[in-house]
Amino acid sequence: MCGIIGYTGNKPAAPVLTKGLHALEYRGYDSAGIAVCGSEIVTVKAVGRISALEEKLRGRDLPEVCGIGHTRWATHGCPTEINCHPHLSYGGKFAIVHNGIIDNCRNLRVLCENRGISLKSDTDSELIAHLLEWEYRGDPLACLSRVAADLRGSFALGVLCADFPSDIYAAKMRSPLIIGLGEDMACISSDGTAMPKEVTSLIVLADGQVARVRPGSAEVFFRGRRVEPERVKCSSPEIAAALSGFPHYMLKEMYEQPEALARTVTEDCLGRPYLRRNVTLIGCGSSYHAALASKPLVERITGCSAEVCLASEFIYSEKTVGRGKQAVFLSQSGETADTIAAAEEAKRRGYLTLAVSNVHSSTLTRVCDEKFCTRAGPEISVATTKGFTTQVGALGVLASRNDEIAAALKELPFAAEKALAVEVGEVAKLIAKSVNPFFIGRKADYGAALEGALKLKEISYISALGIAAGELKHGSISLIEKGTPVVVVSTDEALGEKTLLSMATVRARGGTVIAVTNIDEVAQAADFVLPLPNVHPLLSAAVSVIPLQRLAYEAALLLGKDIDKPRNLAKSVTVE
Ligand code: GLU
Repeated sequence: MCGIIGYTGNKPAAPVLTKGLHALEYRGYDSAGIAVCGSEIVTVKAVGRISALEEKLRGRDLPEVCGIGHTRWATHGCPTEINCHPHLSYGGKFAIVHNGIIDNCRNLRVLCENRGISLKSDTDSELIAHLLEWEYRGDPLACLSRVAADLRGSFALGVLCADFPSDIYAAKMRSPLIIGLGEDMACISSDGTAMPKEVTSLIVLADGQVARVRPGSAEVFFRGRRVEPERVKCSSPEIAAALSGFPHYMLKEMYEQPEALARTVTEDCLGRPYLRRNVTLIGCGSSYHAALASKPLVERITGCSAEVCLASEFIYSEKTVGRGKQAVFLSQSGETADTIAAAEEAKRRGYLTLAVSNVHSSTLTRVCDEKFCTRAGPEISVATTKGFTTQVGALGVLASRNDEIAAALKELPFAAEKALAVEVGEVAKLIAKSVNPFFIGRKADYGAALEGALKLKEISYISALGIAAGELKHGSISLIEKGTPVVVVSTDEALGEKTLLSMATVRARGGTVIAVTNIDEVAQAADFVLPLPNVHPLLSAAVSVIPLQRLAYEAALLLGKDIDKPRNLAKSVTVE
């Protein structure tokens, strides 16, 4: 999450960096800092807004023309000045900014302590600075390559070395980082929107690459070898910037999910609507799946059964009287014609209507009596990702009258971040070759399974079948033959035994079981595992769906499909 900016050129770096940090503010952050490099490295940091950082910078004489800056969204350690980036190495030789999470930080922490390095912060990021200085033999790029190879998890790194005061070093793994080049200047950023306007071409770093960035030039290396990266001319800078270095909006939006969830679940609680007894959840496509996935939570909280209905079918349920009942309508755009028609019909029947939409002043929010806005930010990819996860988060917020759920909601962004790091490559190859893959699950996992199947259908055109795990044996099992992939979503320990049974049934017919799970027994019984972080089973769809989105994305990529604009589909379906 969060933001990186780096600049090297012929102007003082500090103002360029703070300007870039302002451009990154929309992503949400809790602290910010910069480091500039002259004969030594100077850091200035502040908790809270960038204006607090600017306040600290006021009156400081910082003529250095090279530096890095960061907006932090804490994952390891509270938002304090000590935990704030950039972090300096023990001898002050290196400064680093880091986006992402280092999974093996515990081991690395012990390693640093055993080397007698005293750690200042609680972050995973600080360790990287120390490892760099420890490994350093005069070539910062070589030592960055070595250190990066030992890091597990996700990182975009910007690095300064006091011995090379006009260089910035960069490394990337599963967190975006782009290099911008202009005349006599260069910059790095996690997000194209923060690039200074002098930038005339962009290099999008790929996973595993490291780079040395100097004014006007950049060298990129992969596994120790120099590579010639593709340069994108900024003839349409907005587009390049909007994609922030991602090859597709879908991938970019997948990566925006932790932040989008964080924004949605911390949406101001005062005066917000709430779920009542006798609620009907209504939506189409992915919104319908979000409703299905949230039904068990809504029932637990309201203590009543909740109905889930397809918007296009709701209008035909002739005998339903709405008085005393609540109908909740889910639509990312708020312009889905079926959902609007259903909301209008519900009002005629006397329901209290509530819109859950990502667009504040959409038709749906205007039609309904009450509204709750997800805060996913603009979604451009036709296949929804953050739209779905924030709907699950939103229903969690609307239902969070209980401390357990409220606490679990706060954990969602972190769990989503971890789910983004799940490797799906091998399974994607299998799925891309398959004819009739299944996606199955029970309870909340059922909604996630349907959504996983829909993602695959939407962008890879593979005819996937999403089905309730218990239904498999009632007919569709006839389609399972040797090698049929069956993706089993399983996040509810209480249902573990039944899940194991479904898996055994599939395997007995030669099917290949892919478990998307955080339950050890389930993982052990599968042919392939996409491991999930721990997440509350009633909110799990917001996390379990993430590897499924990635699976669909990678499969579509392997098949060479047009991911952001799949055939026959429209972003918001404004016809009934
Ligand atoms: N994991 C790092 C930290 O907690 C980086 C977080 C971020 O991406 O802002 O400091």
